[in-house]
Amino acid sequence: MKPIVLVTGGSRGIGAATALLAAEHGYAVAVNYARNSLAADEVVRQIRAGGGTAMAVQADVANESEVMAMFERVDAKLGPLSSLVNNAGIVDVACRVDEMDMARLQRMFATNVLGSFVCAREAIKRMSTRHGGTGGSIVNVSSAAARGGGSGQYVDYAASKGAIETFTVGLAKEVALEGIRVNAVRPGIIETDIHASGGQPDRAWQLAPQVPMQRPGTALEVAQAIVWLMGNASSYTTGSMLDVSGGR
Ligand code: NDP
Repeated sequence: MKPIVLVTGGSRGIGAATALLAAEHGYAVAVNYARNSLAADEVVRQIRAGGGTAMAVQADVANESEVMAMFERVDAKLGPLSSLVNNAGIVDVACRVDEMDMARLQRMFATNVLGSFVCAREAIKRMSTRHGGTGGSIVNVSSAAARGGGSGQYVDYAASKGAIETFTVGLAKEVALEGIRVNAVRPGIIETDIHASGGQPDRAWQLAPQVPMQRPGTALEVAQAIVWLMGNASSYTTGSMLDVSGGR
């Protein structure tokens, strides 16, 4: 039977590249999305066109009941989960901390942090040997912003990714004896739509001169690291942060 992976935010950007690459590596893929069903359906179509197995599954990761319903749909349609990629994440428009309102902060942390927690919780219930599962892996998507802090742009986003890194370290130790490895990737500046959603569509190339490799990365370059961390090729790696940032 194929291993089964759920990729949150698997419909666009890094998540879509991860879904497509995981399918090439033989995974059956659940492609989660929040709103844009057409983009999710297109990823599913491409996977099926290549002979793979995939389903699209809607859930806002910040909504606990939608997350629980999503995992139940994946159980029913694909079977027992082998891996989770906590990729869904948002930025907001550039702004200083003294300008951030509570609604922005709540949305940021609910999506980037709490969403990853509840998805991990549901995955562990299915994968952990403690709960009768056969083990698995979780890959969280952090950001180089967790190191840099995002000053003047989005300290809230950077701090949410800092939380993801502490979560990765703690959870990795908590489930290490239950057959589950937990790691994170730390992408640098990657060419995706996320920059436009923060009001700066050209941001990736504008920041390229700050990158030692002098270019943004591609979603595929991040997906390659994620798929490595998901699979048995990284069997002795847990609690790690893997920088995918062109040396930045
Ligand atoms: P994109 O904006 O290109 O894609 C975001 C994806 O997440 C979409 O599939 C979107 O679905 C989904 N999504 C957004 N909000 C939710 C939600 N509440 N629930 C479920 N799905 C949701 O993002 P990227 O590919 O650039 O980013 C992916 C991850 O990588 C994020 O965690 C981001 O923080 C991180 N990252 C990105 C970097 C970059 O430079 N691009 C750098 C460092 C980290 P829909 O279309 O339905 O909204």
